[in-house]
Amino acid sequence: MDKGREDASSQTGPGLPEAGGDAPEVTGSVEYKFEKGVFLLLLGLCAVGLLVVGFFFWYVPTVGLGNIHPVLPYVLAAIIIVVCGIVFWGAIGIALSLIGGRSVTPSSRYRGFLVKLFLPAMVLFGGLFKIPRIKIERAFVEINNRMVRSMVAGGRRFNPEKIIILMPHCIQWEDCKVKVTKDVANCVRCGRCEIAELLTLSNEYGIKLFVLTGGTIARRKLKEFRPDAVVAVACERDLTSGVQDAYPLPVLAVINKRPHGYCMNTGVDIAAIKGAIEELLGRSGRPTIEVSS
Ligand code: SF4
Repeated sequence: MDKGREDASSQTGPGLPEAGGDAPEVTGSVEYKFEKGVFLLLLGLCAVGLLVVGFFFWYVPTVGLGNIHPVLPYVLAAIIIVVCGIVFWGAIGIALSLIGGRSVTPSSRYRGFLVKLFLPAMVLFGGLFKIPRIKIERAFVEINNRMVRSMVAGGRRFNPEKIIILMPHCIQWEDCKVKVTKDVANCVRCGRCEIAELLTLSNEYGIKLFVLTGGTIARRKLKEFRPDAVVAVACERDLTSGVQDAYPLPVLAVINKRPHGYCMNTGVDIAAIKGAIEELLGRSGRPTIEVSS
């Protein structure tokens, strides 16, 4: 969304906020409910669906392969059984992670299953059963976060200089003329949006903060800074695609507040960002990014 903003250094008059000005209301949010049952149902459907596909992959070429050599259909069957076994192993790991509240197995492999295989399949099955995509995306974000947390619980630690915080452009107060997408330090901390508080957190922990205009810039930042972990804020759809794009990079995803709808004067729970940073640094006793179940 182009708002015709200019650099702070060249700004006077309306649009350049004064420090300490009245902040707009950003405390409201969309209802954020994670439906465990829906996710488990979809996971089961996906596993069964993949099994059926696997059967057809075996059955269809079997006739032709049998004509080449009688052993070949059995070789193909063995390969497909191994692949289906791996898929079910992934599904069971994700389901246990969901039911148990934390990942009970090495999570990086399961994140791979979730991100690359199950999410696209769940979106497909969800569409067939008319389950709103946003519910699937919220479940995906929740499971992803649990898996990233379990990496930390398993002893993985991240240095502050190797963590970055990515914020969407829409968090900036709509009428602010400061170009924070160019350099977030241009913010004069008027308090009209949460970028001021995020900047304070960024300085406090020594973690880089970027305000981005889209996914292409996000990918560029990841390439440029090569972080070990990311704290990302966005709507469900952008977080889902962002986590997929960034994989295998661990991303703690925080769903934004949208008191004025999508893409305008959005907000974020600062305590959730602080909690995510503390978790990645291994300083948090327990997870702080939670959704109701
Ligand atoms: S980015 Fe937000 S906090 Fe910073 S100057 Fe603009 S409105 Fe104020």
